[in-house]
Amino acid sequence: MTTPFILISACLLGEKVRYDAKDLLLEDEIISQWVKRGALISICPEIAGGLKTPRPPAEIQHLPDKSIKVISISNQDVTESFLIGAKLALNTCQQQNIQMAILTEGSPSCGSSLINDGHFSKNKISGEGITTRLLRQNGIKVFNQHQLSQANEYYRMHLIFSKPIN
Ligand code: SF4
Repeated sequence: MTTPFILISACLLGEKVRYDAKDLLLEDEIISQWVKRGALISICPEIAGGLKTPRPPAEIQHLPDKSIKVISISNQDVTESFLIGAKLALNTCQQQNIQMAILTEGSPSCGSSLINDGHFSKNKISGEGITTRLLRQNGIKVFNQHQLSQANEYYRMHLIFSKPIN
C-alpha cells in the first residue's frame, strides 16, 4: 500500500530553522511511527521563502483595509518572503499529493489557531499563519503539534483506510 505523505514543520523534526536558530523537536511515538513509515516531508516555509537563520522575529499585522503584512521586529517588511514560502509549501503538497500537515502553533507562517498579536507584545490572538492559511484554502487539513492524536486518527481514517490497496 502506498504511504500517504504528511507535511511537517521542519523545526518539529529538530531542524534548527527557527528565527533564533533553535528547533522545537517533537518527541512522540506518533511522530516516530510516521518517520518509520517514511510518511513525513518537512519544510520550513520561512527558509524556503529566502529568509536566513537566525533572523529577527516577525509578526502578522492586520491593516485597517483588512489586508495583512508581515513585519520583523526590526521593522522590515518580510511579507513577500512569507508568501513565497507558503506557495512553495503548497507546491510541495500538490506535487506529492499531500492532504494533511502538522505545523507549529503560534508561528506567523505555521500557526493554525494562534498567532502573535502583531505588536511584539508576546500576546497571542486567534489566527493562522500565512502558510497554514494557503494550505487550508487549498483543502489541506492542518493540525498543530498539540493535536497529534487527532491528526493520527484523521490520517488513519481518511488517508490510509479510505485508499485502495495498490
Ligand atoms: Fe518552524 Fe514554520 Fe517557523 Fe520554519 S516557519 S521555523 S517550520 S514554525
